[in-house]
Amino acid sequence: MLTKSSTELVRQRNSVLVLSVLRRHGALAHTEISDSTGLSSATISAITTELEKAQVIEKSEQQPASGRGRPRVLLRQRRDCGYLIVVIISSDAVQYSLVDYAGKLIDRFSEERSHDPAGAVRFVAAVRAGLLRILDRSKISQEKVLLISISSKGLVNSTEPVLVWSPIFGSEQIDFESALRPEWQAKVILDNETLLVAAALGAREEMVKGADFRSLAALSLGHSVGLGIVRRGNQTGQEISAPNFGHMLHMANGGLCRCGTRGCIEAYAGFYAILRSAFEVPLDTIPAKFVPVAELDKIAAKARQGHRVPAFAFRQAGLALGNGLSRMLSLTERMPIAITGPGTRYYDLLRQGIEEGLGQSHIVRMEGMPEIRVVADEQILVFEGHLNRALSVIDEDIVLSGVQGIQASATVQESG
Ligand SMILES: [Zn+2]
Repeated sequence: MLTKSSTELVRQRNSVLVLSVLRRHGALAHTEISDSTGLSSATISAITTELEKAQVIEKSEQQPASGRGRPRVLLRQRRDCGYLIVVIISSDAVQYSLVDYAGKLIDRFSEERSHDPAGAVRFVAAVRAGLLRILDRSKISQEKVLLISISSKGLVNSTEPVLVWSPIFGSEQIDFESALRPEWQAKVILDNETLLVAAALGAREEMVKGADFRSLAALSLGHSVGLGIVRRGNQTGQEISAPNFGHMLHMANGGLCRCGTRGCIEAYAGFYAILRSAFEVPLDTIPAKFVPVAELDKIAAKARQGHRVPAFAFRQAGLALGNGLSRMLSLTERMPIAITGPGTRYYDLLRQGIEEGLGQSHIVRMEGMPEIRVVADEQILVFEGHLNRALSVIDEDIVLSGVQGIQASATVQESG
């Protein structure tokens, strides 16, 4: 069996490190790359020469501010090295974005999703058409698309791009990889939407706190309830997960949930659940598939005017969320909680219940209330999470396949 030599592996790891530093900081001079990575100047030279030859990075010159002296030579990712398509599936639309290798947005459009029951087969056909449409609009050749990064609410298989359960398609599974082959050769990845939100918030937080960053949870409120947890990994990088929070048990034999089970957190805190309790509809009524925000706004307005039942519906939703968060904290560790999603517009009505729900647990009584912050612009975070993850996957793939081919002709050593 042939194995790569250890020098080869070290070199690959260092190349990925250089690319990730350029991603994080943008264009950098040779010495800055050396400072950020801790690698020697000679190593940086060898790596950047090779990446430049492979047309992965490029040089640009920056005139000194004084206008005199030698220009600074900066290195950065080449925009046309390859492309990424981001597909964001939400309850009422699918958004397509085309992004170049340097992370610049080139084109974007959204298509409304029909709420017909034809389900997954028609949906997959619509996604394939959407992907071809964005390619056609930009006139980029299909082989230049290196990766298709998809996100949805719901449960995602941890190793394959398979949507296992979603609020939209229920347990009708979608395997995006086989749905897009053989038409597409690009790599296909699929992530839970709130996991991406947590990833983006974690990356932002680590930029500020550096080595002091430990962990953070993102709670997304809307038609469904999502949770993402990001924690510092053992070595470098972050560990991100999206437990099935919305369908964790809140109350045994409780209200009927969209998933078919009874008593889930979502059956008390999802938009449909708030609507159900505000209208005092029996808890075993099959919940509405899609509730317009305007409907919830009306209930919220009544609650703010002091009407008892609508106010109770929000408080009860908050309580379910607070209880759920306290269980999550008991199983992990104390961490800040960032609340996002369309439901943040009702945070004033949910807050009391959330704090009460948290305060009922031993862990919170012992360690105190975790920091809770409201973060708007969930859509920006989802996209940011896509870029962070997808571009680092592309960087790694390029180093492992593309550049290696070039290296192979020069220095490859194999032992077996
Ligand atoms: Zn459920």
